[in-house]
Amino acid sequence: MKYDALFDAQLDELRAEGNYRVFAELERERGSFPVARNYGEKGVQDVTVWCSNDYLGMGQNPVVVDAMHEALDRCGTGAGGTRNISGTTHDHILLEAELADLHQKEAALLFTSGYVSNWASLSTLGSRLKDCVILSDAKNHASMIEGIRHSRCEKRLWQHNDMEDLERQLKSLDYDRPKIIAFESVYSMDGHIAPIKEICDLADKYNAMTYLDEVHGVGLYGPRGGGVAEREGLMDRITLIEGTLGKAFGVVGGYITGSRSLIDFIRSFASGFIFTTALPPAIAAGSRASIEYLKNSEIERLRQKERVATVRKRLDQLGIPHMDNPSHIVPIMVGNPVKCKQISDRLLSDYGIYVQPINYPTVPKGTERLRITPSPVHSDEDIDRLMDALEDQWSQCALARTVSAA
Ligand SMILES: *Cc1c(COP(=O)(O)O)cnc(C)c1O
Repeated sequence: MKYDALFDAQLDELRAEGNYRVFAELERERGSFPVARNYGEKGVQDVTVWCSNDYLGMGQNPVVVDAMHEALDRCGTGAGGTRNISGTTHDHILLEAELADLHQKEAALLFTSGYVSNWASLSTLGSRLKDCVILSDAKNHASMIEGIRHSRCEKRLWQHNDMEDLERQLKSLDYDRPKIIAFESVYSMDGHIAPIKEICDLADKYNAMTYLDEVHGVGLYGPRGGGVAEREGLMDRITLIEGTLGKAFGVVGGYITGSRSLIDFIRSFASGFIFTTALPPAIAAGSRASIEYLKNSEIERLRQKERVATVRKRLDQLGIPHMDNPSHIVPIMVGNPVKCKQISDRLLSDYGIYVQPINYPTVPKGTERLRITPSPVHSDEDIDRLMDALEDQWSQCALARTVSAA
């Protein structure tokens, strides 16, 4: 059997659909972000990154870098084991306490990534709670979808952010049956924000748990960076809050927070927690420093808001269509996979601007986009250069414009 031929056939299909993924090979330079070196076909070139999830530049914040250096020198590299077998270190326990405090919950549990935290938690809850049904927003992240699938419990999809559909489905379920409403605060591709209060009201009315993915909210929203639920004073109404240490906090790892019993339950039964080596202590120390820093500093959040508003205003002046939403994510709509990829390629090669094209299956066909994430480290000149480049490309590709708001 020629196995490689089997692999290549499917890869060719992907290429034919325009969905083959090509990675930019970047070298981030501490202190220079959002500028990074790109190792491209034409050699090495400095580029300005406009699509990073290091939303606040915490990946180069001296407080975080110093905490990681200190822990690395103090503890060495790896944790040395799973959490159960010699891998639980003092730094892990301190970080879990910090996370519980961030979300004002009794307890927290670390995972090696946000993906793993969703996958492991939802699969454990769905499989261990007898007769459980999980009601999942139609736009939930792959990590939640896979976790629910793995649990093999009943799954009900509800229309994205649609309270009528959610209520209709809740109403049809036995009141005493265990139910989990799984959703996100900020949806990363559209930048929509969930009606968290309304979802909590329905959960109360129909006897359901709430499972909230705050991956794109933590660090960014709320007076202490506790996420959208903190901003809206709703953290105490959410059963389980899940987050990442890899996006706004600038490090890596995932976590959940909730009641002592809930967290102990997942700690005790989740395969994806139990059978894998704990994060290195230096990662835990850096993450804790980042969370603690953002609990006390508003500068980054305020500056980010201002940058996002400025980028939106400039796009409106040029008539470049972008999806209106109440978050920090600015999806510039191209609506064609080939043009989307082409513009992204040209931004990189001709202007030194890096924005990854977002095509199907990440977003529906016909809604292909450039997802940009303005951050406090983008300067006025960075914005000027982005706008000049987009203006050129919009003309060259003869793309539609919105009516100028200026
Ligand atoms: C990125 C992402 C995750 C996974 O988090 P990682 O820490 O990157 O594994 C989970 N949920 C959502 C909505 C995400 O966008």
